[in-house]
Amino acid sequence: EPKKSLDPDEEYKLSGDLRELYDRLLPSKESEDRRTQLCKKLERILDEEWPGNDIQVNMFGSSGNLLSSSDSDVDLCITTDAKALGDMHELAKRLNKHGMEKVVCRAAAKVPIVKCWDPELQLACDVNVNNPLALENTRMIKTYVQLDDRVRPLAKIIKYWTKRRILNDAGPGGTISSYTWICMILNFLQRRDPPILPSLQKMRNAERSTANGQPSDFVDDVDALKGWGKKNNESLAQLLFQFFRHYGYEFEYTKHVVSVREGRLLSRTEKGWETNSIDNKEGRHRLCVEEPFNTYRNLGNSADEYSWSGLHNEIRRAFELLEDGCQIEKVCEQYEFP
Ligand code: ATP
Ligand code: MG
Repeated sequence: EPKKSLDPDEEYKLSGDLRELYDRLLPSKESEDRRTQLCKKLERILDEEWPGNDIQVNMFGSSGNLLSSSDSDVDLCITTDAKALGDMHELAKRLNKHGMEKVVCRAAAKVPIVKCWDPELQLACDVNVNNPLALENTRMIKTYVQLDDRVRPLAKIIKYWTKRRILNDAGPGGTISSYTWICMILNFLQRRDPPILPSLQKMRNAERSTANGQPSDFVDDVDALKGWGKKNNESLAQLLFQFFRHYGYEFEYTKHVVSVREGRLLSRTEKGWETNSIDNKEGRHRLCVEEPFNTYRNLGNSADEYSWSGLHNEIRRAFELLEDGCQIEKVCEQYEFP
């Protein structure tokens, strides 16, 4: 039987260590400035290459949701009406012309991207074109992160652990993306008792509109909602411990679906994602995480049986180390391939 909670002295010690780790993981002002510069620089390049068009470059992903580190890649989305920019091969060519290095074009990917490295600003970036959904789900994550002071350190520490243990690559034969982990973290916090986060998509609010006047799919009034979860006074250390306990031993992978949109767990049956469903392939995967906006998509579908079991073992490993009173550095020790 896995230990129910951390003892007070362990909790105290781990809390201190986590604070220290979190401070180290915060991006430097200098690295944030470089990200903004890269955005501006790309806008300049695109304006020069395709003059006379209205072209914007926005950061999304960790550069936009408060969960980046100094060494994170920059996710960039070009927003424009100019049709010519939809040709990813052409985009790749022009970026190369302006001194970008290691330019790789993934035109056939689910979301077509150009990957490149800026030697001047020392930043790697993934560029896509006209992907408003990515901007919206980034804005929603950022809103959740701002609602309670525990979300940012918890998510950053778990992300750090996933990187060090090589658990955040959704590519072929890989595990699951950072985005999927973030959804699992948010949903875990929505399900604490009492809850630390609400479902921003379920809340009713008269004024729901984004900055550009489009209707918003979620409540985004941070000032009104800040401190929503303060009836729950669990510490950062306790939450980290409980996160690993939950996904290591309590969450029933064959029955449950993580739903940030609903703010609770769905059963596979109510979701229509039964493991043996004939009409719907999404349920065939061991891990079910509903994409909060495109709810028919399972973010867990990048992990096959083999990688899921590796992932599950890693969650249990982390829990057991914390249970034994090991330090966070040990939990996040760099994974070495045998
Ligand atoms: P990291 O710092 O590890 O890069 P991240 O927060 O940038 O973490 P990613 O997994 O790189 O997370 O995803 C970047 C962004 O891309 C997400 O914030 C989200 O907007 C979008 N995204 C990624 N995967 C999906 C998906 N399957 N469906 C919709 N949007 C996605
Ligand atoms: Mg990213």
